[in-house]
Amino acid sequence: MVPDTDFTAALNKPLEVVQKIYNDAQDKSSDSITKLVTAHFHQLFASADAKSKIPTLSAANIATLLPKPNADAGSSHRLVRFRAMIQDTGLGTEVFLAKHQQGDRNITGLFGGEATLPASESSADAEHAEPDHQDLAERAVMYAVSVPGQTEWAAQAHREAAAAGSSDSSVDELTNATAAVAIEEPQSPQKVEEVRQRIRRAVEKGKAIGSSGKEPRLVAISKLHPPSTILAAHRKAGQLHFGENYVQEMVDKAKVLPREIRWHFVGGLQSNKGKLLASIPNLYLLETLDSIKAANVLQKALSSPDAAKRDEPLRVYLQVNTSGEDAKSGLPPILSTDPEQAKESELLKLAVHVITKCPNLRLRGVMTIGAAANSSSADADQPKSVDEIVSANPDFERLILTRKNLVELLRKDADVAKADQTHVKEAYADLLEGSEANGGLELSMGMSADMDVATMAGSDNVRVGTDCFGRRPGTREEAMKGMKRELEVGPEAAAEELKGSSAPSQGGAASSSSSGADKYTLPRAFLAKSPIPEAPHVGGLVKLYDLEAAEKFKTTELVEVIGILDKASLPQAEWQETGSGAASSAEPAEVPCIHAVWASAVELDSVQAQESTGGSSSGNALAQSADRDALIAFLSGGLAGDKLAAELVLLATIARIHVRRANLCLGALTLNVSNFGAAGKTASSAEQTQLSRRLNMLLPAVVDVSMELASLNDDRKPLYARSAGEGTGLEAGRLQLVNGTTIVVNEGTMGEGQLKESGIRNIRALSSVLESHKLPYAFPYSEFEFDTDLNAVVLSQGKSFLPFDIHCPLSPEAGSEDLYSSSVPKVEAEQLAGWRSALLGARSLATAKAFEIPDSVSEHIQHEFVAERRKEQQEATDAHGGVASKEGALGQEDLLRRMSLVRLLAISHSEKTLTIERWNSAVELDKQLMQRVAAAQPQSQQTPATGSAGAGVSR
Ligand SMILES: *Cc1c(COP(=O)(O)O)cnc(C)c1O
Repeated sequence: MVPDTDFTAALNKPLEVVQKIYNDAQDKSSDSITKLVTAHFHQLFASADAKSKIPTLSAANIATLLPKPNADAGSSHRLVRFRAMIQDTGLGTEVFLAKHQQGDRNITGLFGGEATLPASESSADAEHAEPDHQDLAERAVMYAVSVPGQTEWAAQAHREAAAAGSSDSSVDELTNATAAVAIEEPQSPQKVEEVRQRIRRAVEKGKAIGSSGKEPRLVAISKLHPPSTILAAHRKAGQLHFGENYVQEMVDKAKVLPREIRWHFVGGLQSNKGKLLASIPNLYLLETLDSIKAANVLQKALSSPDAAKRDEPLRVYLQVNTSGEDAKSGLPPILSTDPEQAKESELLKLAVHVITKCPNLRLRGVMTIGAAANSSSADADQPKSVDEIVSANPDFERLILTRKNLVELLRKDADVAKADQTHVKEAYADLLEGSEANGGLELSMGMSADMDVATMAGSDNVRVGTDCFGRRPGTREEAMKGMKRELEVGPEAAAEELKGSSAPSQGGAASSSSSGADKYTLPRAFLAKSPIPEAPHVGGLVKLYDLEAAEKFKTTELVEVIGILDKASLPQAEWQETGSGAASSAEPAEVPCIHAVWASAVELDSVQAQESTGGSSSGNALAQSADRDALIAFLSGGLAGDKLAAELVLLATIARIHVRRANLCLGALTLNVSNFGAAGKTASSAEQTQLSRRLNMLLPAVVDVSMELASLNDDRKPLYARSAGEGTGLEAGRLQLVNGTTIVVNEGTMGEGQLKESGIRNIRALSSVLESHKLPYAFPYSEFEFDTDLNAVVLSQGKSFLPFDIHCPLSPEAGSEDLYSSSVPKVEAEQLAGWRSALLGARSLATAKAFEIPDSVSEHIQHEFVAERRKEQQEATDAHGGVASKEGALGQEDLLRRMSLVRLLAISHSEKTLTIERWNSAVELDKQLMQRVAAAQPQSQQTPATGSAGAGVSR
């Protein structure tokens, strides 16, 4: 058995890796193992690229990722990613068996390792002998659910597979791409065997005519062939040396292939690739060194602390352009040892440089590609002497001569002689003091077409591609597409996936029905722990081994967990407030459980922009007025063509609370759009608005909150979270959402009837979220409030009875689209991607916090406001015959509202600092709004006594 690379092992057999770390560790305490495991996985998956290779849990794939019931635990547990909301932090900690002795074998129970304990024995153990006290450890247990309301595009950006049922073209694409290369057994093992036999025959023939009889090393040039083909040649034919001519391709392959493979690089060197080359610990030989500059780049990269740990210096061959073709790289051969000519030889200078100045490199030979025309010119079948063979191929002849001359010149070289570093003396003993004419320098020559002749001519290293692997794909693009999945998850996992997906589809085109069979549903009781139970989602336990870190996680926090997937039931602990009687009667239901290798809090808006766009849209869409105008037009399509309302919706959806002190929340902007028609009389009142559909296309998480009386009054579906003490801990409420989620509340769906007690509690919870930005959690004997920061748009016919910061009566445009139209317009992908990434930036908490208001602007605003107020008072005094009317005047509320508006307006234009121009446009916007509110109010109410609300600050 050949061990896997660290990367693929961690990805596919994480439990075995944990056990191995445990075996190798000196200090086997749980603390120390936890740290080692975390560090190991952290290092392997530090880059976004590496992390993306871990499957992200979703409703669509969880069934295939959960360990199979009867499989070997060590190898059937998968490493997964889970982007989720912490729903319940109240499950406390649980004590578990951290170590188990079985004969002389020690098994760790950490990170799900308990699954590898033989079931019968561990229970017998537990009964007969109390485990040693040291063998117990403690871990925190939480419950997490898929991000509630996460929109489809955001889920895709996080590489969550689409929910079963919805068509997912990327899965098909992937299957097609991998099917082409991996469905049949690779022929490489047989082909490599045949090549070896040919080489052996050539060695025998060579011996008969007087060559050394040494068998050259076979380097199987695997460029453009998939990892599975390489792995087959390695495992089944024992091939050890493989060569590649593209750095990135080699790096990617090396990551998913066994570490003991010896990689040769045979391609052109670019100076920006030094670091990448140095990142491959098992790069064995670089065959194409041809400049001092490249040598320096390599030396620097290899001696950097970032370089992969190597057991030995990197061997290099100097590439010689023996055919003198312009298209070939390499330095001119050394055809004479005349001292005058030799002084000019770049090849000699490079050799001296490597020996004396590059301690991380080892000069090991010379290499040529040679002219294609030369390769077939030798008569290999009936050679009479080695000389005949060599002289028939000018490339071989020149390379052999070059080596001989180079050795001679190096032995006489003054700089080399002066170099007194010990490494030179030791590493180049054969070259400098040896008796052999070749000085230990090797010849790399011979490819598919001429490897036999090259062997007879004395080659030490033949590079054979076509004859080992068959023809290469026509284009690089085609080749890379075909091996994409293998490079992501490794050749074996890709093959497994293929088996899984190809088996059922053999019967016909019914591949979608197979996903139905592979469905996992949470036990019924656990659906109450999902804020939006009707949407496809995943829920489960997260077990955290770092107790200190676990303490920091709060409910509704968005976390990214990477860990080992298993199943488990809720911990049996004191949290069950109802006491033991009720809960213990039922069989504990098992749910998915992730043993977190690490977990970190993330922002909802941390969607990776380059994954979500795919386009190359440069610049910020909000900063470009054409793009921003198009976005406003797009939003107004869900608002009966009302551009002013669309502006405000944009502001409401980017608002974030950036200061929170006691009862003060700065930054939030709850919007009420009134005059918003109710759903069609015939249609269900819970119908989704066109506005919500459009917001779904733009934002990472959107939740519709129905105000239907029936659901408000339904005690089983509260808006707030509560613990009913029913055995599954805290029940989710529909408003238990991640900060930054946008809620669309439609009062129009309410209908006629009476609010019952639970309805009143729900309205109170919703009001609290909209006004004080706190969500109540109800426990049997107490109630808590937790901070929340949701973006809210309240749609209503009249002015809303719910709290809001700003009010905009809708002014529909003639012939505008239906507010409840179910078709969403097509938007060009690049445009959409541009909007999304700009919105993510505008919405981020960091943006809100970093926004600056210069003192000068702030002063200007104060002055202007005071002046405006004075003027207004003057006008009112004049109108009322000398009596100042307080009610009509601008108040502090108006200033506050304008300040929130202008902040968001500036951010929505992608500005980081407030300017006076922007302030003026905010005042303009506010005045427009006040006029509209005034116009919308019935005449009878437009008296000074009741008309004070202006644009409707409700607090
Ligand atoms: C591709 C390649 C080979 C192998 O060529 P085949 O003719 O397929 O055997 C050998 N050497 C170098 C430098 C190559 O790029």
